Amino acid sequence: MDEFDWIDLLKPLASSAEARGLRDDAAIVPSRPEFDLVISKDAIVEGVHFLPDDPLDLVARKLLRVNLSDIAAKGAEAWGYLLAIAWPGARSDADRRAFVDGLRTDQASYGLTLLGGDTVSTPGPLVASVTMLGWVEAGRAVGRAGARVGDGLWVTGPIGEGWLGLKAARGEIASDRLAVRYRLPKPRIDLAVVIRRLATASADVSDGLLADASRIADASGVRARVDLDTVPLSPEGLAWGDRLALATGGDDYEVVFTAPPGAAPDWATRIGEIVEGHGLTVLADGRPVSTSSLGWRHR
Ligand code: ADP
Ligand code: MG
Repeated sequence: MDEFDWIDLLKPLASSAEARGLRDDAAIVPSRPEFDLVISKDAIVEGVHFLPDDPLDLVARKLLRVNLSDIAAKGAEAWGYLLAIAWPGARSDADRRAFVDGLRTDQASYGLTLLGGDTVSTPGPLVASVTMLGWVEAGRAVGRAGARVGDGLWVTGPIGEGWLGLKAARGEIASDRLAVRYRLPKPRIDLAVVIRRLATASADVSDGLLADASRIADASGVRARVDLDTVPLSPEGLAWGDRLALATGGDDYEVVFTAPPGAAPDWATRIGEIVEGHGLTVLADGRPVSTSSLGWRHR
């Protein structure tokens, strides 16, 4: 299939009027009164973010989902996306169809529309990038910079699932659930509205809980204290035991956020608090963990 056959394959995914059926140079989106546009982008590279023989429908779905996770963490609702893709010549028509199947499946699940993109061929590995657009009530997006001293630090679900999931996908541990969890994360779009109402600062957990919590602290000019013993784990995480490893692994796609002192959301777990200073304190058994063991910056 040539570039035009490929774009024909994509056209049914571009169902919104703004996309002009992929028959124009650009999508035209009217500004939406009382709303802000929230925009995020992620790219994936074969051999780095997925394996050459990974099914491409799952690769496409994960690409959408990691972007959805960013949009949800801002308290916004995803609407549409642009797709840039560089296809290696050796990829078959079946591969291309599988990729489109994945896009179609998750577009339907998440109420998305394709707005446009670009397609090139490459002598290198498959590279794809999605730019996700979402809407949030004007001025209400939750950034990383709003944490205040006294706020609680919270996380929306079990931590270390992505890291254990990678081990499962590699066959290093036996768990079908975790392998699926790694290939197909579940972005917390279900919590976008409550995060928007409650959170003073928020980030999705993509690089690791401690890294993402420390980014909230840095952006807010405060210090985050994380009590490792309170970090929620799945049964597999509990069995693994090494909480520091789980909290520095990435790809969880839960949301870490701060909330005012009195807040007690029943949809999240309190894992620490915001104090004066800067950076991050990690406690295990009530004692600080040495920061040299928090090697996430080198990931
Ligand atoms: P141009 O030559 O002006 O860059 P193209 O021929 O690349 O235009 O694209 C034609 C149409 O197809 C445009 O609407 C563009 O957004 C769309 N398109 C091309 N590649 C993709 C893609 N990977 N995903 C979505 N839309 C695409
Ligand atoms: Mg053009």
